[in-house]
Amino acid sequence: MNFGMVERPLTQLSTLTSKNMDKIKVAILGSTGSIGIQTLDVIERHSDLFEVELLTANNSTDLLIEQAIKFEPNNVVICNHSNYKKVADSLSNHPVKVFAGIDSVCDLVKGDNVDIVVAAMVGFSGLKPTLAALSAGKNIALANKETLVAAGAIVKEAALKNSCAILPVDSEHSAIFQAIQGERSNIEKLLLTASGGPFLNSTIDEIKSASLSEALNHPRWKMGAKVTIDSASMMNKGFEMIEAKWLFDITPDKIEIVVHPESIIHSMVQFEDGSVMAQLSNPDMRLPIQYALSYPYRLPLNTKRLDFAKIGALHFQSPDFQKFPCLRIAYESIGKGGNTPCAMNAANEVAVQALRDGEIAFWQIPLLIEKCLEKCSFIPNPTLDDIYSTDFEAKNISQELVKNINKW
Ligand code: MG
Repeated sequence: MNFGMVERPLTQLSTLTSKNMDKIKVAILGSTGSIGIQTLDVIERHSDLFEVELLTANNSTDLLIEQAIKFEPNNVVICNHSNYKKVADSLSNHPVKVFAGIDSVCDLVKGDNVDIVVAAMVGFSGLKPTLAALSAGKNIALANKETLVAAGAIVKEAALKNSCAILPVDSEHSAIFQAIQGERSNIEKLLLTASGGPFLNSTIDEIKSASLSEALNHPRWKMGAKVTIDSASMMNKGFEMIEAKWLFDITPDKIEIVVHPESIIHSMVQFEDGSVMAQLSNPDMRLPIQYALSYPYRLPLNTKRLDFAKIGALHFQSPDFQKFPCLRIAYESIGKGGNTPCAMNAANEVAVQALRDGEIAFWQIPLLIEKCLEKCSFIPNPTLDDIYSTDFEAKNISQELVKNINKW
């Protein structure tokens, strides 16, 4: 059975078993975000196995400088050129080379010194550096799900062509990946668990009056703003369904979303004999991050252990597609295929930013996406250039929709 995963090269596996060999050199794209910070925590705890080769950030100069001084990577990139001088000046007395701009990220991820790339940038912007890393044969620990949503077929093809592993960092996909280890049988169904977000028990009317701060108040996970708002609209789960399709070579009709408010089971795999394998832990993103870095080994980690007697019960329910139209939109868009998921992702990025800027209300996110998809040109078999032009077109359409929100 092809799970769409390429085994990590043996040279890297042996580094985990022999202290005499080189450490695994990690590039972290988006090191100042939630995943980046937790990746550095994992690396610090296992500094005998891993070292940082490259750190990149968009705008968070102070944290990037602090991380660079502490971890001494060979290279750092500040993507926003206007912040270059501050970072370069602050690191002038340190053995760290400083670069600016996304093109520098794309060059440096290809470097001989990079063994694995943690793709933790937010949104569509992660696509270009991820493809650059794949073109140079680098393994990817993928947190940036938008990359697979927007360009799954292209990213998958690049990984296969260059014999790269795409190791999931998203907790649900890591759970599925862990649950299929050693299995040689067909998957009947993936059960993708969802916490349900802050509006799980809200009525449609309550969601219609939901504020930005309510959308940002996730009950289980502490994450960046984009993914937190995506979780509140459940677009995040729609994205994860598409991500699972590409990672595990499975059709969307075999991916069922199960709402599980405790977020203890991180996802499940059902096999042909009816057996269901699940991965459980208290919510802690360091676990899937570490597993992606150490795969196929497990390493010690100080997560809060589960106390089943104390937990008592776990709960499950079906997702409400009426209350969370983004779920329906995600299934429809992957069903239509072509450039539609890319346009959906672009519209969602604009909608989330517009919500954060106070320009639209939370409940208008799915409306904006659907209106954008109606207007965006359809390309059945998009090339990479088509993907970039679709992102551009859909973002323009969405921004116009935001400006004319009163005429909808
Ligand atoms: Mg997730």
